[in-house]
Amino acid sequence: MERTLSIVKPDGVRKNIVGEVIGRFEKAGLQVIALKMAHLSKAEAEGFYAVHSKRPFFGSLTEFMCSGPVVLMALEGPDAIKKVRDMMGATDPAKAAQGTIRKDFADSIESNIVHGSDAPETAGFEIPYFFSALETMRR
Ligand code: ATP
Ligand code: MG
Repeated sequence: MERTLSIVKPDGVRKNIVGEVIGRFEKAGLQVIALKMAHLSKAEAEGFYAVHSKRPFFGSLTEFMCSGPVVLMALEGPDAIKKVRDMMGATDPAKAAQGTIRKDFADSIESNIVHGSDAPETAGFEIPYFFSALETMRR
């Protein structure tokens, strides 16, 4: 069993595909263990993507991430991190494989609908960034 943090980004919420994205994860055998909508502040988006703070797109990325509400979720299942990454597709939708979320819905390398943790250590930072221990407790 593994856990990962996924986000339906502001473009995904605007495009009305929150249910579509969560439904794809559920159909792939992942379980939603925590879920909420939030409108991130600039500082919250900067903290989340701090690993990219030196990249030229950091300002634009963090503006985009607080341009509207997002849907935050922790997912659990076998191989959850890789499963979500595979379903998301490449960062640039033009390079994403057929049938992936980004291929099907994303407009650009920045507005690419969905986030997923890229490694266990990343998930270990990202899940508690948004959810408390109580919110992600197994019941
Ligand atoms: P994410 O971390 O959101 O799941 P990712 O792991 O596929 O996406 P990263 O390299 O971690 O891609 O980049 C984080 C986010 O920054 C991307 O999802 C995208 O929104 C934005 N981004 C990445 N590269 C660029 C770029 N060259 N120009 C503009 N935005 C970019
Ligand atoms: Mg990433």
